[in-house]
Amino acid sequence: MPSKKIQHILESQQFNRHWLLTQFFPEVARMKRLVEVKGVSSALSDKTVCLLFYEPSTRTRISFEQAAQKLGAKIASTENASEFSSAIKGESLADTIRVINSLKFDAVVIRSDMEGGAVEAANVSQIPIINAGDAAGQHPTQALLDVYTIFEHFKRLDNLKVALVGDLKNGRTTRSLAYLLGKFKKIHFDLVAPAAFQMKQDILDYFDRHNISHKRTKSLESVADQVDVVYLTRLQKERLKKNSKVNGNGVRLNDKVMAILNKKSIILHPLPRSDGFNEL
Ligand code: ASP
Repeated sequence: MPSKKIQHILESQQFNRHWLLTQFFPEVARMKRLVEVKGVSSALSDKTVCLLFYEPSTRTRISFEQAAQKLGAKIASTENASEFSSAIKGESLADTIRVINSLKFDAVVIRSDMEGGAVEAANVSQIPIINAGDAAGQHPTQALLDVYTIFEHFKRLDNLKVALVGDLKNGRTTRSLAYLLGKFKKIHFDLVAPAAFQMKQDILDYFDRHNISHKRTKSLESVADQVDVVYLTRLQKERLKKNSKVNGNGVRLNDKVMAILNKKSIILHPLPRSDGFNEL
């Protein structure tokens, strides 16, 4: 991380290669061991964390709760905050965040239903805001977890070929992962998606600005024998018009793809898998 202390976690671009390799990964390994050996820690025993989830979540919310509790923090949590919080009475996100600040929480984990919602929250917050997914924007904590998982397996993040597969247009995890892995050397991305679901221009511009090698394709089969990482994602049905017809051919990990997949490669999926593309 840059010399300044982390205030908020909002988007993957805020992290750099040096910080990931020299501080973040060793610290994750240390905490992993600590939890494996002792089960719990008192590192956050004087802290209270507020979890504010406006969009559905299973893994992210439960694992944030679990992590906070294992580190000794107390939590206050609302799921479906668009209905179960004062949002339904017309309260703005900014006002909700101001109130949470005044109640002396130590951090807010937010899943916003608006792209840019976490940034909006951070603009009025004196306590750290952690973006746990902002609509089709970003999911930086998922990306941190993903790069750690890849690093743990390959013991490196440079010089890897990565296929990002599925609904790259609406999926926030692939967007955050692209920004984060793009910080490493000699990375190549195969962007595998049906034409209507290809990666948005902001990421392609980022690749071009930083000379990051990438190729767009509709077929996982065409790149499967060359890639080190296959990162599958589901169709983001909730972001589509009702009854949209979608063809998942080409983004499916079927027997044909499995037969030619580089045997040293790894397969990741942020979950949930679903029947939209039937990708896994
Ligand atoms: N769980 C991930 C997310 O919240 C992936 C997904 O929903 O497709 O973005």
